[in-house]
Amino acid sequence: MTDFEAPTGPDSDRHEFPVIGEPLPLELLNTAHTWEGEVEESLTTPAALRDWCGAAVGSIDLAVTAADLAAVLRLRGAIAHVVAAARAGHGVDVEAIDVVNDDLVLAPPARRLDRLGGGLVTVAGPAPTSIAQVRGAVAAATVELVSGAVADRLRECANPPCGMVFLAGHGRRRYCTAWCSNHDRQRRFRERHPRSVE
Ligand SMILES: [Zn+2]
Repeated sequence: MTDFEAPTGPDSDRHEFPVIGEPLPLELLNTAHTWEGEVEESLTTPAALRDWCGAAVGSIDLAVTAADLAAVLRLRGAIAHVVAAARAGHGVDVEAIDVVNDDLVLAPPARRLDRLGGGLVTVAGPAPTSIAQVRGAVAAATVELVSGAVADRLRECANPPCGMVFLAGHGRRRYCTAWCSNHDRQRRFRERHPRSVE
């Protein structure tokens, strides 16, 4: 496992990868975010991918092969291109779009029909039960994320060393986590008061 610590911070003690409650495509991108310019790769083994699926997708103890890991990393690379294009408002490689669309057909149903009292309701579909379905769910969420209204709220953390990406729920959010917000505030304080610490 990796020795990832920041920016999950001292309050997050269990995960070797960051899971910060963002839409699935961004959670997947953040498994290889940068910190101080170095890529922090979390999905180094099939077991790491299995654990990530439990933490980020809610699919526990999936069987994961090396081929599954390669397919997820391929999707992650395509999502990086697509999200970067959505943020910058420029064109994107058609190959990246093809990868997302190829995985889209693997998605489990997002909703299903159920009974409530004497009536009918739609409820959330089941959690993915295979890595193929995880790829489908992530691809489907990518389509939602980059097509339209929310694309201008896709951001990179404002804490200089941190390269985590997130979807700002409101226009003012600048940091991936409270940990990064505090880290950056302390850095700026030290810059203003260079002799007040150590
Ligand atoms: Zn951050």
